[in-house]
Amino acid sequence: MSDLPDEFKCTITNWEYIYGLCRTVSTEVKRSEFEPDVVVALARGGWFAGRCICDFLGLDDLTSLKMEHYVGTAEKTGEPQIRYPMPEGSVEGKDVLIIDDIADTGGSIERAHEYVTDRDADQVRTGTLQLLQTSEFEPDFVGERLEEWAWVVYPWNFIEDMIDLISGVMRKAEGETFTPEEIRRLLAEFHEIERIQMEIAQPNRLNEVLVEMERRDAIDRDGANEWQLVEG
Ligand code: AMP
Repeated sequence: MSDLPDEFKCTITNWEYIYGLCRTVSTEVKRSEFEPDVVVALARGGWFAGRCICDFLGLDDLTSLKMEHYVGTAEKTGEPQIRYPMPEGSVEGKDVLIIDDIADTGGSIERAHEYVTDRDADQVRTGTLQLLQTSEFEPDFVGERLEEWAWVVYPWNFIEDMIDLISGVMRKAEGETFTPEEIRRLLAEFHEIERIQMEIAQPNRLNEVLVEMERRDAIDRDGANEWQLVEG
């Protein structure tokens, strides 16, 4: 989280909500009369959306492109890079729809667009489930435009993001050990994650995340229900 301030807003989402955004993107594609031959889902954030959009559009050609840009929640590591090249024949001569979860700087989807175009694709269009105003790239199809910048916690990386966020607030807060209630209070204070919002989106999952953090040696249980960070 090196590039972000200590405090930033997070929005926790669930499968139903995100599935609805996949439907919206697909409806826009149909309305535009663009008929892609293949969907290129950017790994890892665009995978779920790419698969669902294939289903909505009736496509069986789905391929992936791995971008590297962010390592963990909100850690920017410079320009987006292609991690693995696409297999020969994936997009050459085809009409391609590139899908990602969110455009923030817009760098990843823009780079993917450039890469696919260079691979002699025919028509290339882009779509994201969500678009932040910070993006310098405007995808052709957008599920939802977010007025206010937030870190969106997607259901497919709920545990990964919550581990980052919880470790972060435990590091920043005063105190050695924290009860789950104190952790909830810190998530609200630093990231505007209110208990009720989290429970509606992802019910009964805080304890699961804490137990998983313990399994990964990120935290220790000190007493019955008090947790502390494992340093180092
Ligand atoms: P970008 O800055 O548009 O190149 O974003 C690259 C990738 O980082 C996105 O596809 C997401 O997987 C992740 N990402 C960036 N910003 C956010 C955010 N505000 N919320 C959730 N994920 C994000």
